[in-house]
Amino acid sequence: MSTTDVIDPATEEVITSLELADVDETDRAVETAHRAFATWRTVSPADRARLLRRFAAVVDEHVEELARLEVRNAGHTLGNARWEAGNVRDVLNYYSGAPERPAGDTIPVDGGVAMTYAEPLGVVAVIVPWNFPMPIAGWAIGPALAAGNTVVLKPAELTPLTALRLAELALEAGLPEGVLQVLPGRGSVVGARFVTHPLVRKVVFTGSTAVGKQVMAGCAEQVKRVTLELGGKNASIVFADADLDVAAAAAPGGAFDNAGQDCCARSRLLVQEDVLDDFLGRLEPAVRGFVCGDPGDEGSGMGPLISAGQREVVAGYVGDAEVLIQGEAPQGPGFWHPPTVLRTRSESDPAFTEEIFGPVISVLPFRDEADALRIANDTAYGLSGSIWTRDVGRALRVARGLEAGNLAVNSHSSVRYNTPFGGVKASGLGRELGPHALDAFTDTKTIFIATTD
Ligand code: NAD
Repeated sequence: MSTTDVIDPATEEVITSLELADVDETDRAVETAHRAFATWRTVSPADRARLLRRFAAVVDEHVEELARLEVRNAGHTLGNARWEAGNVRDVLNYYSGAPERPAGDTIPVDGGVAMTYAEPLGVVAVIVPWNFPMPIAGWAIGPALAAGNTVVLKPAELTPLTALRLAELALEAGLPEGVLQVLPGRGSVVGARFVTHPLVRKVVFTGSTAVGKQVMAGCAEQVKRVTLELGGKNASIVFADADLDVAAAAAPGGAFDNAGQDCCARSRLLVQEDVLDDFLGRLEPAVRGFVCGDPGDEGSGMGPLISAGQREVVAGYVGDAEVLIQGEAPQGPGFWHPPTVLRTRSESDPAFTEEIFGPVISVLPFRDEADALRIANDTAYGLSGSIWTRDVGRALRVARGLEAGNLAVNSHSSVRYNTPFGGVKASGLGRELGPHALDAFTDTKTIFIATTD
């Protein structure tokens, strides 16, 4: 069994050392989950709902503890980490309503009646990236358990601590042993075994598009269900008629939140050419005022990047680019990178086309609505985006024209537990959250009962 050091990205200190699960341990966990499924699926809807509500209540009692753990392990700001722990609570509460709500139809047919059941799938495996360890875990755990599945979850190697704590809190709340298990381990070992294990009936994968494709190909071997939440290179489109002060003030938060390590980060900033200089003038103080600092300080807008490797990747994009605006970052230990705005030299500029996953905005002017749509859609990704305009007709036309799963008008907000979330094109397959998420964790069974003598 191998071990890994868990590092605080703001100080580079080792927080703890953990044993990583191997293939045998993964197999044992899947078998345990499979046995637990036999009883969990028969727990009465009201009791399953009660257990999920209790799990939510226990998470609520530990929001501050979970948040502080995430500040240390992932360098998230305290405000964000509190929101993230609260989001786990909210998702559990939201889906605790599901077991007792109708989940099937009765359909009149000749000679009898047909009815449908939404049957749980069995063991659901969840593979989580390092950028949002708590919410991404919660988005799968909530609806999967509500639908009657059991869950095995692998956190990212760099950020396992909050997921491990959530599994302890689930037991404290009274969830039966084996219903939710968290296995820290390598993607190539535990994650890959989730894909090949025949008792795993569904994989929920959030991470890079490259690994997502491998996971999908592996799932195809067993016709295993899969949800993919992958990368993004999202555009924020600022029209000349927008409230430029509001759009400029919001741009840093839309791109630098979580140090830009966000699949929804608005890292491509498209500004209508007639207002480009005016807009950049308003953007400058907003970028300089976006505080990159100790994530435990209430005043910090962003913390460090997750690792030295990630900082190197980000620095590689900024290297010889033309920097328009740059904020400050702490010196000394920690994987810091300042908030940075680049001028885009051409539409094929790698900083403009590739997901950087760091606090970097690339700015490009556009002529008109058609030009904005052409540029924004000229990407393999399609996760989110923003439209800034006072013209409601244009807002809707552009939103309908953009190839992305989650759009916001005069806002950068993309994620709510009560609305669907997910991408098109290389950004993924399937939707999480919202009223229909249970469909992704159930199969429809049709039963016909003859009523003729
Ligand atoms: P990654 O793909 O390297 O890893 C994601 C997870 O997959 C980790 O737990 C990793 O251990 C595991 N993994 C790695 N190789 C595997 C394999 N062969 N089989 C199974 N599992 C394997 O991604 P990352 O660098 O951790 O995360 C960043 C990426 O995640 C970015 O591209 C980002 O856009 C994406 N992301 C997407 C969303 C979304 O909802 N669309 C949300 C957050 C992050």
